[in-house]
Amino acid sequence: MPSLSSRMGRQVPELPEVESSRRYLEEPLVGRSVTGVAVGRARMIRHQAIPVDFTSRLLGRKLMAVDRKGKYLLLRFDADMTLVMHLGMSGRLQLALPGEECAPHSNVVIGFDDEIELRLVDPRTFGFAVAVTPEELAVHSVARLGPDALNALPRTSAFRTALRERTAPIKSLLLDQRIIAGLGNIYADEVLFRARVHGSRPGGSLNGEEVRRVRAAIGPVLKAGLRAGGTSLDDLAYLLPDGRAGEYLQRLRVYGRSGLPCRSCGTPIERMVLGQRSHFFCRTCQPPFRPR
Ligand SMILES: [Zn+2]
Repeated sequence: MPSLSSRMGRQVPELPEVESSRRYLEEPLVGRSVTGVAVGRARMIRHQAIPVDFTSRLLGRKLMAVDRKGKYLLLRFDADMTLVMHLGMSGRLQLALPGEECAPHSNVVIGFDDEIELRLVDPRTFGFAVAVTPEELAVHSVARLGPDALNALPRTSAFRTALRERTAPIKSLLLDQRIIAGLGNIYADEVLFRARVHGSRPGGSLNGEEVRRVRAAIGPVLKAGLRAGGTSLDDLAYLLPDGRAGEYLQRLRVYGRSGLPCRSCGTPIERMVLGQRSHFFCRTCQPPFRPR
């Protein structure tokens, strides 16, 4: 059997994966202070205007909170310093003891109290870490994110306004982090299936009831992903920080299931390309054209 990752393309960590990691990091790290910083690949801190700032801004800082917005993790330190991290295409976070053997591609390692290390493991280095002041944070791409899909989902009326007259496919609009932050390719397809809306439909063509269904599907799909610890495809690029795999893969309704029967109606799931991304759908449950 060909691996899922080769059939579906690589998995990119989405909101449930990042939130699962956030929850896992919070308890062991908050209240601790940074005692060491090591950057193995300079590319990982490419957003840092002055590279040496990365270390000097973090050393000695006490971690106050671990926040998240969309797919970004925000580690809030004292003295108003924020460490912004993104897992990119293949990144994951790992907690380890100092001296514990590093996984390959442990590109950024931050030591806390000389007792525990946070390691950013990222073979493809599309992820990044950057230590920013409040002024820098205000102009970072984090500041351009729309409301968080889990914590700040807009009301149906506001969502409908954001989609009005948009000709782009609804699937692409769900991936637009400026509209709603956190959805990626897997969960957007699952949301559209649950809402019974085909991803190719122009955003502006959805009627009020369809917009309501799409919006209403986002929370349950993300929460189901979270309960399972996220989705680890068989490339295991994404793992929880303790090394366990997320288990949402088995629950996916459409994503990666082309040719398999729809779990609702039995029609074979199909795959098409929308905006250079795979879109998986059921032609019966999600009619490609606006129902009359
Ligand atoms: Zn179906």
